[in-house]
Amino acid sequence: MTESDVLSALPPILPAVSGSTGHAGIDSELFVDTLNRPLRDLRISVTDRCNFRCVYCMPKEIFGRDYAFLQRDELLSFEEITRLARIAIANGVEKIRLTGGEPLLRKGLEELVSMLADLRTPDGREIDIALTTNGSALAYKAQALKDAGLKRVTVSLDSLDEATFQAMNDVRFPVAKVLNGIDVAHAVGLGPIKINMVLKRGQNDQDIVQMARHFKGSPYILRFIEFMDVGSSNGWKMDEVVPSSEVIRRINAELPLEEVVPNYDGETSVRWRYRDGGGEIGVISSVTRSFCQSCTRVRVSTEGRLFTCLFATEGNDLRALMRTGCTDDELAQALGAIWRNRGDRYSDLRSAKTRELRQSGGKKIEMSYIGG
Ligand code: SAM
Ligand code: SF4
Ligand code: SF4
Repeated sequence: MTESDVLSALPPILPAVSGSTGHAGIDSELFVDTLNRPLRDLRISVTDRCNFRCVYCMPKEIFGRDYAFLQRDELLSFEEITRLARIAIANGVEKIRLTGGEPLLRKGLEELVSMLADLRTPDGREIDIALTTNGSALAYKAQALKDAGLKRVTVSLDSLDEATFQAMNDVRFPVAKVLNGIDVAHAVGLGPIKINMVLKRGQNDQDIVQMARHFKGSPYILRFIEFMDVGSSNGWKMDEVVPSSEVIRRINAELPLEEVVPNYDGETSVRWRYRDGGGEIGVISSVTRSFCQSCTRVRVSTEGRLFTCLFATEGNDLRALMRTGCTDDELAQALGAIWRNRGDRYSDLRSAKTRELRQSGGKKIEMSYIGG
């Protein structure tokens, strides 16, 4: 197959590509997008299901009893995921994050982790494999995941206040179980653990300082995330976003902070540390301070669609390509062609893009489908 054969086997959203052909080996020229961003991070959603119904992600009214989740044979198998990952790694990916839905609901996840942990970069380095979870099953799974080769976990926790947390997860899941999961994960060595708190004004912003106090001086790094307009079902409104500048102001008033020099250029989280040496926090300002310029992430949905932006409306069906028996070389060509054509910068252009989508009637994909 030529590159154009490969591309024509994909659904029609891929732009026509002309010129050089790709190959399965590393070639940084091929895997740089139109804004000069290399491909470095792969986020894999292993399930679209979740045992929580967080109000900003899977509101109950939409994700109710009748919601049509994917069926088992629609999911990418572990072998298919590993194959995709291997090809992505051969072409620049160095970090893999498993997500969902709730990734710990995917049966045998540790088996997938162990398959991914065997992969190496072209120069022989191990892959940085992490997982984002709501923590509900972490206490039971942490040891097996660690043994399988998982390096780190990020745990979502939106409040320490029982009533607030349960109102946000909307399934009455208790705070204590998540905290226990975090401690078990730490004890087995799945660190450094990051704690993600999504802020929604009027829902949990009153708990910002309490959260900061709780995790100050602990081994965990708390990160505050601005509520994003992902998907089409969370009823996002700008006035429900708590800007990171406000988070820093509120914490700093009680627990003095100073900004930390970034670990690397384009770090999504801006780091701050307590002046008294009590550790650090991070703020992720996806809405008020976009970081598209340094976005090196590609996302694979549970059913094998490749998305080059969290705010995309459509993805490229790599499962179809794999199930028609394409070679690794052809898969690499498709991946390369998609990445080279990428020009996504939704957050940079948020207002204009929102207007455009409203006019076209387009629907953004859901966070629970593509993973955070
Ligand atoms: N279920 C896992 C969890 O909650 O950690 C993994 C998937 S979840 C979609 C990944 C991350 O996305 C979580 O930290 C969650 O809080 C965040 N998230 C979901 N919807 C969001 C939104 N609208 N704005 C900002 N973050 C969001
Ligand atoms: Fe589930 Fe995570 Fe979405 Fe909450 S944020 S509903 S835990 S997928
Ligand atoms: Fe990356 Fe898209 Fe988010 Fe910009 S809006 S940082 S391109 S995922």
